[in-house]
Amino acid sequence: MSELLLEYAEATSTCTRCPLAATRTQVVFGSGDPHAELMFVGEAPGFHEDKNGVPFVGQAGKLLETLLNGIGLSRADVYIANVLKCRPPGNRDPQPEEIEACESHLFHQIELIRPTLVATLGNFATKLLSGKPTGITRVHGVQQQVTLGGNEVTLYPLYHPAAALYTRSMLAVLEEDFRRIPELLGLTTVVPEPAEVELEPELEEERPLEPTVQLGLF
Ligand code: URA
Repeated sequence: MSELLLEYAEATSTCTRCPLAATRTQVVFGSGDPHAELMFVGEAPGFHEDKNGVPFVGQAGKLLETLLNGIGLSRADVYIANVLKCRPPGNRDPQPEEIEACESHLFHQIELIRPTLVATLGNFATKLLSGKPTGITRVHGVQQQVTLGGNEVTLYPLYHPAAALYTRSMLAVLEEDFRRIPELLGLTTVVPEPAEVELEPELEEERPLEPTVQLGLF
């Protein structure tokens, strides 16, 4: 199956289904274990992802990795993708036409990877994959059964890590929701030491907090 995923990534690399093809550096297809049980779906590539061709490599990605490490997992254990495969200029919100043009790439990815648990990060992924307009504030941390890519999967909406970088209360909720992932995967939790998130200097200035945030994981 991973070969089919590679072939599909290659086919997608020249996609011109929407105008983002004209402004992107490259298509950011997704990365991680092609046989992952757990898949994360974010919103769209940002500046760093567009340059590197890999999703979640900026500040939000660092937080995602820290949260994963906190439940005994790493990036290599999961698959990470986005609703949009190309960066919207200036990191603006995805437009409905762009989501419509791109969604079959995501659905086909899910069909090939066959995860059992899909964690949606933020509103765009949650609304698209749940097929419902209910926002993330109401549905985060509540799993639901859906059919995606022809398979039954557990959908688990989470706050977007980028939002949690700026709002301490959201970070606490995201940590708490993350702690349920092992249970949803049917795994026994390995309890690591609490992780420490280093905040960027400019982020510290925006938030009157101490220079590091202790992630109270377990
Ligand atoms: N935010 C996203 O939603 N996706 C990325 O790949 C990076 C930041």
